[in-house]
Amino acid sequence: MAREWRNWSGSLRFVPGEYAEPASEDEVRGLVERARATGRTLRPVGSGHSSSPLVRTDGILIDLRRLDGLLHQDQQRRQATVGAGSRLRDLGEQLYDAGLAMDNLGDIDLQTIAGATATGTHGTGLRFGNLSTQIVAVRLVTGTGDVLDVSATDHPDLLPAVRLSLGALGVLTRITLQLSQVYKLHRRTWCSHVDWTLDNLEQLQRENRNMDFYWYPRSDQTQIRTLNPIGHEPELRPPTPYRESLAEASHLSIPRHRELRFDEIEYLIPSAAFPDCFAELRRRIRDRHRREVGWRILVRTVAADDIYLSGAYGRPTTTIACLQNTSLPHDAYFADVEEVFLQYGGRPHWGKKHSLTARELRPLYPAWDAFAEVRRTLDPDGVFLTPDLARLLEQP
Ligand SMILES: Cc1cc2nc3c(=O)[nH]c(=O)nc-3n(C[C@H](O)[C@H](O)[C@H](O)COP(=O)(O)OP(=O)(O)OC[C@H]3O[C@@H](n4cnc5c(N)ncnc54)[C@H](O)[C@@H]3O)c2cc1C
Repeated sequence: MAREWRNWSGSLRFVPGEYAEPASEDEVRGLVERARATGRTLRPVGSGHSSSPLVRTDGILIDLRRLDGLLHQDQQRRQATVGAGSRLRDLGEQLYDAGLAMDNLGDIDLQTIAGATATGTHGTGLRFGNLSTQIVAVRLVTGTGDVLDVSATDHPDLLPAVRLSLGALGVLTRITLQLSQVYKLHRRTWCSHVDWTLDNLEQLQRENRNMDFYWYPRSDQTQIRTLNPIGHEPELRPPTPYRESLAEASHLSIPRHRELRFDEIEYLIPSAAFPDCFAELRRRIRDRHRREVGWRILVRTVAADDIYLSGAYGRPTTTIACLQNTSLPHDAYFADVEEVFLQYGGRPHWGKKHSLTARELRPLYPAWDAFAEVRRTLDPDGVFLTPDLARLLEQP
């Protein structure tokens, strides 16, 4: 029997039937074939930063940490192929040494590249899609134990499914990324009031390469953060002094450091609906949750894409994330704000808390059936389909 596994926040714990850290693609194939032959499920895991039960299994849990590193680089095309289990932080350093960098990153860099892209992890910026949009090719071991290359030339029809797959199509072993040349960003943060922030939000988002803000419901203060190429001075600045100003290579300036453990619900809202959605959220938190909301709410933007299960599929998106310290209760609070997000056409972040099942999810994703068809083709026996995944992806 394997040891108990727990995610980053501690909200998900289970004992898998077996735990493995394969060191080669052949070993991954062997594990998938064995799971298939014995009728067990298998789940690949990254660094355990998701709080939805995507990796829970009583079958085989496989950690790809030994399949990591920069495997190949193409300077001319600005592309690199990396091991699927690479941590974003290590990758940032390795790419930097090769003169390359990811176009954007999320808030932290502790996830693996396969894990982050499998749930559509995103940063902020009107021009930037989620991290999955940076994928141009993958190699995966499917549910039948076959090794499949997917790229613009090999099975290109599968790309919109495999770039964000929840680990439901196969175990990714390699990922090829479209990159930029190394670049530096100037990160600045200010404190402001939520009314000033909302009144000027459209201009702040437009004039800065990356812009996001935290809202602290108890005080109505915000923390605005902008990132820009060195020397780029937007016209509008908050009328308060900087709290922080730092110029660094992108892999160091985009992510932040976290001390506190928290749980989180995040929904991706059509940007056009954001003002009304946020106003309703403010009312609801003020009227019902102000006393127990321990922490803050983060607002970011993501460009539209064409990835089947992406929360930004087909629409410019604004994301709203409610963060609650792990020491405080979150169930009632998250359930109540989820109602507001759904009213405004929100789609849940796959890696965070939400209550939706396939029945509610399907109408939210125009390409849902296309993904389902790819899933049934690549995993006909349901090797990756645990009960949690079946609730998400298969209608009863
Ligand atoms: C502190 C913190 C900060 C965060 N910041 C952000 C943020 O800024 N933006 C944002 O969008 N999200 C954010 N998240 C959410 C996080 O990025 C996602 O949950 C992400 O999926 C976690 O990656 P991971 O490597 O930990 O993968 P895991 O959580 O371990 O796994 C996630 C999914 O990836 C699949 N998977 C893993 N490896 C493979 C593989 N080799 N092949 C196929 N499938 C695989 C798993 O089966 C699972 O479905 C944050 C979470 C935390 C806890």
